[in-house]
Amino acid sequence: MKCNQKILSLSAAMAMIFASSAWAGNGPMGDRPSNSATCIADGTCTPKSQGQPLAGTCSTDPDSTCLPGPKWNNSQNWQGNHQQGSQANCSADGTCSLLEGPLAELSETDVTALSFMREEEKMARDVYITLYEVWQTPIFANISRAEQQHMDQIKSVLDSYELPDPASEEMGVFTNPELQALYDSLVERGRISQNEALHVGALIEEVDIEDLQNAIAETENPVLENMYTNLLNGSYNHLRGFVRNIEYLDYVYQAQHLSQEEVDDILNPAVVSRGLGLNADSQFVATNAQFKPSIKNQNGRHGNGAALAQGDEVTLGATFQPDSAHLGQNADLLTVATFTPMGGNQQMMFMRNETGGWQNWDGDLNNLTAIQTKQQLRENQRLNIHQGQLPAGRYQVSMGYRLEDGTVILNGQPMDFSVE
Ligand code: ZN
Ligand code: ZN
Repeated sequence: MKCNQKILSLSAAMAMIFASSAWAGNGPMGDRPSNSATCIADGTCTPKSQGQPLAGTCSTDPDSTCLPGPKWNNSQNWQGNHQQGSQANCSADGTCSLLEGPLAELSETDVTALSFMREEEKMARDVYITLYEVWQTPIFANISRAEQQHMDQIKSVLDSYELPDPASEEMGVFTNPELQALYDSLVERGRISQNEALHVGALIEEVDIEDLQNAIAETENPVLENMYTNLLNGSYNHLRGFVRNIEYLDYVYQAQHLSQEEVDDILNPAVVSRGLGLNADSQFVATNAQFKPSIKNQNGRHGNGAALAQGDEVTLGATFQPDSAHLGQNADLLTVATFTPMGGNQQMMFMRNETGGWQNWDGDLNNLTAIQTKQQLRENQRLNIHQGQLPAGRYQVSMGYRLEDGTVILNGQPMDFSVE
């Protein structure tokens, strides 16, 4: 029996979706004053109008909402859940504990990949810390903190399996010679200009994305697969953050490592997110499902971090590719959302029911109603979520499906936007 560990309760696992490490450390967007800069994942900020400081510089302003604010505290909303954080038992503040219960087997490939990814996350962190010292561009400080959390997650898995940690305590020092060479050349390039530094950040994320995708494809261990998925969604966010900063400097970003098509897909307007799977016993299951949510108003499509207006006609939807093993099966389509009213910090949970209304949800999966029942899953499944005006606040919306055997597949990274 390979997949027999029970690490998180189902509600905790779902809380993790909303508290994905990519967002940890940033305050709810709804708290910020309406004249402030636009802050998105990882605290990356873009001033709204010309004449304001350069992208991201708002985090040096003590009044800025780009500073790490109160963390999303899902334990208040997801009853009985005090185990928020990643699958690797890490909480949003970066403290990690060992995995509990019998551990699924690790292959030799898994061991190699884990140890490589641990140092690759360190490479990202060390480059960003160094480039922050050179340029003081806040995105580097923000994302380096996320990379520290990624390192911590991998460390907790290494520790759980009693595997050695290849990562040196020393900044800019690596056991893997390839990563050492990459670190040296990237820091050198990043010192040339702020634009080059931001390109270095985007390149690291592109490389990270490919390595994580390969690690996901090569592992059969569901704990690793889900941790990598979490890291991958973080890297998607980081790439978007660097590119937004590059565009703010009036450069057009060209893919550096992945194909242009893949980068375009990650950037805009849809958010690509890998699925997260849980079976009826709250155990993680591997899935190759992929989601492409879309956030639209009368001006067109928007990515995560969008700030919409109260009068906007908002259309939320998604297309998704169900897991290939689930095609043809009957499933209930699900939508859950958290809403934090503007100016408030009380997060509320809602589900969409079959009559098209939003209804309070207590976080218990047994009480989660379907938006559509008994749909036969097919390729490029379409899901309409909402059409109409929305009250002011921050929204995080997740969608997916539930099979007849109780397996739930959701998008690993929710749509995330605010209405002002
Ligand atoms: Zn990372
Ligand atoms: Zn990253």
